[in-house]
Amino acid sequence: MAGGNAIRGTRVGAGPMGESERGEAAPRERVSYYCANGHETAPSFAAEAEIPDAWDCPRCGLPAGRDHQSPPAPPRNEPYKTHLAYVKERRSDADGAAILEEALGKLRASREL
Ligand SMILES: [Zn+2]
Repeated sequence: MAGGNAIRGTRVGAGPMGESERGEAAPRERVSYYCANGHETAPSFAAEAEIPDAWDCPRCGLPAGRDHQSPPAPPRNEPYKTHLAYVKERRSDADGAAILEEALGKLRASREL
């Protein structure tokens, strides 16, 4: 360990972003994203474009991230509920069926216009 001063010469500021400069020959850059279901998608971006941290998986719609070791967790949204579903929860099945009939009737009517 001679020359203990060598370490002081190390350049400061060479951050982890250094790789962004390598794409000179390629005008577009492919970036891989991985979703929680293990899908990989690799959209390409213009070299000068800002690469987003997240991307929607085109196969399952979950958010995909650039780190395939830890993809973003799927959002824990409630499954989509229609107004009818809410109404049915509060009423008896018979009422629900009647409402469904009415809704379907309106739907058909509006389609025939
Ligand atoms: Zn997916």
